[in-house]
Amino acid sequence: MHRFDRKSKRLSWKILSYALQRIRRDYPLDRGRTPDELRQATGATITPAGIGGKKALQLWRDVLAPACITVDHPRFMAYVPSAPTEAAGLFDVAVSAANVYAGSWQEGSGAVFAENEALRWLADVAGFSITAGGVFVSGGTAGNLSALIAARWNWRHHANGVFDNVRGAIVASRGAHSSISQSARAMDVDVMWVDTDTRGRMTGVATQSAIDAMSEHDKSRVFAIVATGGTTNIGVVDDLTGVGECARNLNTWFHVDAAYGGAGLIAPTVRHLFNGIEHADSFIVDPHKWLFAPFDCCALLYANPQIARAAHTQHAEYLDALHQDDEWNPSDYAHHLSRRARGLPFWFSLATYGTNEYQRSVEVTLDITRAAARQISEHPDLELAMDPELSIVMFRRVGWSVDQYYAWSDKVLNDGVAFVTPTTWHNEVMLRLCIVNPLTSAQDIAIVLGTLK
Ligand SMILES: *Cc1c(COP(=O)(O)O)cnc(C)c1O
Repeated sequence: MHRFDRKSKRLSWKILSYALQRIRRDYPLDRGRTPDELRQATGATITPAGIGGKKALQLWRDVLAPACITVDHPRFMAYVPSAPTEAAGLFDVAVSAANVYAGSWQEGSGAVFAENEALRWLADVAGFSITAGGVFVSGGTAGNLSALIAARWNWRHHANGVFDNVRGAIVASRGAHSSISQSARAMDVDVMWVDTDTRGRMTGVATQSAIDAMSEHDKSRVFAIVATGGTTNIGVVDDLTGVGECARNLNTWFHVDAAYGGAGLIAPTVRHLFNGIEHADSFIVDPHKWLFAPFDCCALLYANPQIARAAHTQHAEYLDALHQDDEWNPSDYAHHLSRRARGLPFWFSLATYGTNEYQRSVEVTLDITRAAARQISEHPDLELAMDPELSIVMFRRVGWSVDQYYAWSDKVLNDGVAFVTPTTWHNEVMLRLCIVNPLTSAQDIAIVLGTLK
């Protein structure tokens, strides 16, 4: 099966032409199926003799792929969609073909160099210094965990053993992403919650009063304060300047989770919301969300990567050869070892289209979001929860029960019209549109709103 012969060549062309078609064509929204439905449609796929590539590809194209919701459909506005560029998506195929090991400089220097160029650009737009650096990890969840592990290492390291058996704590807001409390569970540390303001923002004032209310012992346990640069539910940016000052006053690590909103760093109309991120010790942004890269791609940046390296480097006899020189080994900067060069599709796309085009595309999605907010406020049956800050709009359908929201969401998905899911805001079920696809048009918004009768 490792031979390259005429038969394998035919299959290669089939797979490649499918990939080209998939990336170019207007795909329907599609929807999930049950395991029973899929089992019936596919039959046994893993067999001693193999079913052959032609058959496997046909099953994927005709049965399995249509059972996956098309994330880059212009009317996929649930959760946080993803809309890779053509260059990014296709280059991912090339990255897989080369199967570069991008955990170490020794094995993957060219790939690591290119990934670092893309990381450098992100560090620059955030105002991080020239000594900043980081790594691409699988997603925001992995990025937040890795940053927090570095933060805790730093806290313990500077205490010269005093905190070695002390349980650490993170300060975060109620608007923080679920991956922050999940990281705390994985690390067995506490989260001290800060209440948000009426818009859902974590402010410096609220953070300081939460800290002031702590005992001296609890204050000493805090190893990181986490702010969010674009909350996932409603897309507001925390008071990064104010929260960052609290972290400096407490002499603790400041982490900014900009997994969703980080694209706003390159958009002139919203860049000011992120002021203060330049003082963070670490931040993350998911190019697979709003920076037009395919899954899975999260950029994790540290102001001082040496700390992350001390926290994350794995030591083993068989790895000794990696640590002879002062080379940049991506595996040293997060909780992982083997890794694909998942930053390369993003790098390739940035290199191809240029950063101006990235800026323009993010602004296009912001414009569409503002247009959606206008359409909603002019609609007799709809009410905006608040003006959007980034590219998320939340609104209520006046008079609807919770069941009506869910029934509507199921219906528009089943009809292939749109994927929009309800959410909860201040204990009220509402609808939420998240727009990260520059191909989503005002017409698409009108189609969705038109079904809310
Ligand atoms: C999406 C998101 C995450 C989690 O990212 P994954 O890539 O899904 O792991 C974390 N934080 C914020 C603010 C997010 O929007």
